[in-house]
Amino acid sequence: MTRTTSKKLFDRARKVIPGGVNSPVRAYGSVSLDPPFIIRGRGSKVYDVDGNEYIDYVGSWGPMILGHAHPAIVEAVRDRVARGASFGAPTILEIEMAEEINAALPSIEMVRMVNSGTEATMSAIRLARGYTKRKKIIKFAGCYHGHVDYLLVEAGSGAMTFGVPDSAGVPEEFTRNTLSATYNDLNSIDTLIKDCGDEIAAIIVEPVAGNMGTIPPRPGFLQGLRERCSKHGIVLIFDEVMTGFRVAYGGAQILYDIKPDITCLGKIIGGGLPVGAFGGKREIMECLSPLGSVYQAGTLSGNPLAMAAGLVTLRTLKNENPYPKLEKNSAYLGDGIDALLTEHNIPHVCNRVGSMLCTYFTNTPVDNYDDAKTADCERFTKYFTAMLNQGIYLAPSQFEAGFISAAHSQDDLDRTLDAVKMALESI
Ligand SMILES: *Cc1c(COP(=O)(O)O)cnc(C)c1O
Repeated sequence: MTRTTSKKLFDRARKVIPGGVNSPVRAYGSVSLDPPFIIRGRGSKVYDVDGNEYIDYVGSWGPMILGHAHPAIVEAVRDRVARGASFGAPTILEIEMAEEINAALPSIEMVRMVNSGTEATMSAIRLARGYTKRKKIIKFAGCYHGHVDYLLVEAGSGAMTFGVPDSAGVPEEFTRNTLSATYNDLNSIDTLIKDCGDEIAAIIVEPVAGNMGTIPPRPGFLQGLRERCSKHGIVLIFDEVMTGFRVAYGGAQILYDIKPDITCLGKIIGGGLPVGAFGGKREIMECLSPLGSVYQAGTLSGNPLAMAAGLVTLRTLKNENPYPKLEKNSAYLGDGIDALLTEHNIPHVCNRVGSMLCTYFTNTPVDNYDDAKTADCERFTKYFTAMLNQGIYLAPSQFEAGFISAAHSQDDLDRTLDAVKMALESI
């Protein structure tokens, strides 16, 4: 498999776009390769400019749960764009989208649309601070909530420390109110609450962590957060940008039966178009401008094309209910990989929740960020390279979740397992 045209394009891109990409992980830096330039996608496959076909487990990092170029989405967007792309005025589509989301997630009574997951988390935190009139927030090490200044704090192993920014350009003053806790560890939360519980506006959490691989919540973890937030007047924010309509119709809060106060959404609800949303209890949401004093706005928010693509996606998911099939196929693939690695005596942990999965090259159970960091990234790079060269398109990092779509066939899964078998010879 050659990628000479992609290589030429990457050289050209790097002259005019920082790193040649509009989002860093696409540059393949952590696997020391040049990325394929994708020219089209259909169903479970993507195709690059050199004519190579790949079985896609990235799915645009989550949104493409129905596969690429789903006919109903294509038609809906085509139909809308012919009638005008944006008006910056109220449309019926926005009501329908809000009704669809509110019906799917019982914790949401009102919802506001934005344009990305980052905007959703940023706005949710501002709203929680406005509502509680408190400043501090807690996030978990290894959870990603978009590139919001004060959420770019990973804090690594030293839980219960005050936040140190991960990025240049973020003054320490901006992250001073961000406290970091350990995923799946309620003790780390209790310590923070004991220190300053009445100053904490919100706890934000990925209910299934999907940005340090895939880490399921341990039994009682989410429930424990819910109880502590209720007791101390803290707003519980579920960042379901990845898990919403992925791990279940609705999301992780349906799967684990926990009601957060605010939920952030994105990815799937846009069907591949740029979108985000945050919603929750009426009492909290009514603090938003123009009703309340928490300002929030967006020129393209509720954009008709994004609403059309998102609505068709949600309705298709509701009507066709692909979730049992996604579960079955994901278990087949995850268990298959697990068995092959075991056979070859390669230390590994396969974590999976529904159609989100991650294979870590480690022998430590992975429950939090420190556990995830024990993975052997060099071995991952070899595995990734071998898979890519056999036409299997995985996320180019040990710490990303893989996604299966409703378009993946049994043949796709078997071909992938054959590729894993081959890859294991060289890692
Ligand atoms: C992708 C993601 C975001 C950020 O969304 P963008 O649309 O990239 O800004 C936030 N939170 C989680 C959990 C995500 O997976």
